[in-house]
Amino acid sequence: MKIDILSLFPEFVEAFFHQSMIKRALEAGLIEMAVTNPRDFTKSRHRQVDDTIYGGGAGMLMMCQPLFDACHHVLPEKGPRDRVIFLSPAGKTFNQDKAKELQRDYDHLVLICGHYEGVDHRVEEHLADELISIGDYVLTGGELGAMVISDAVARMVPGVLGDAGSAASDSFYEPILEYPQYTKPAEYNGWKVPDVLLSGHHANIARWRRKEALRRTMAYRPDLLEGQELSKEDRKLMAEIKEELIHS
Ligand code: SAM
Repeated sequence: MKIDILSLFPEFVEAFFHQSMIKRALEAGLIEMAVTNPRDFTKSRHRQVDDTIYGGGAGMLMMCQPLFDACHHVLPEKGPRDRVIFLSPAGKTFNQDKAKELQRDYDHLVLICGHYEGVDHRVEEHLADELISIGDYVLTGGELGAMVISDAVARMVPGVLGDAGSAASDSFYEPILEYPQYTKPAEYNGWKVPDVLLSGHHANIARWRRKEALRRTMAYRPDLLEGQELSKEDRKLMAEIKEELIHS
């Protein structure tokens, strides 16, 4: 998986390449990531990348030419497994399913970050394959969104997570939240780790985890369970949880 980020603030994005999982994945050659500054492609003498808005209005808009040229530089010939994404509050909200889809269906992502009042509409119309938002709020630029998408997609790339099981147990990998997890000490401030987790009994631990994942999902994100076909075992666990709630 190769991810190119087009940003007027490359230092901001580059810092992200040098940390934690992304750093290790880049060093191991499991993913490739690069940031390209559209300002390097401006034809203006003053390296201008923004201009006033036709029809009037406050602020400046990013011009399309530097973005089109930067995009064609990182993606000279577009194939079916290349995807150009414009970060925009108008896009569909990003989620785990989208991360899985991007990792499965594409080998090369180009993430375009807007700034200022936004970007000339022709980028949305004629350059981007799709728009993605990271939530219903307005950020100063698309960089945080590009990092969110890159991180979530990179986690899906085989080999990036040391323990192959850990992406699969993350919240949302299935439409259910992750079960509660604990580490040492077994008791802190009088709060004990549940006995079952110290028992070494794998089947009981697996059952407890599934039940607590369902309990957390019911408590925090009941919407995730709506319309889901639950297994017989899950329905039994849900019934137990409801019974416990009645008696608590
Ligand atoms: N005037 C624009 C509007 O109302 O939609 C907002 C422009 S915003 C200040 C500048 C840039 O930040 C956008 O072009 C976009 O690339 C990025 N951005 C802002 N909020 C975002 C969000 N929720 N998701 C993804 N990108 C966002």
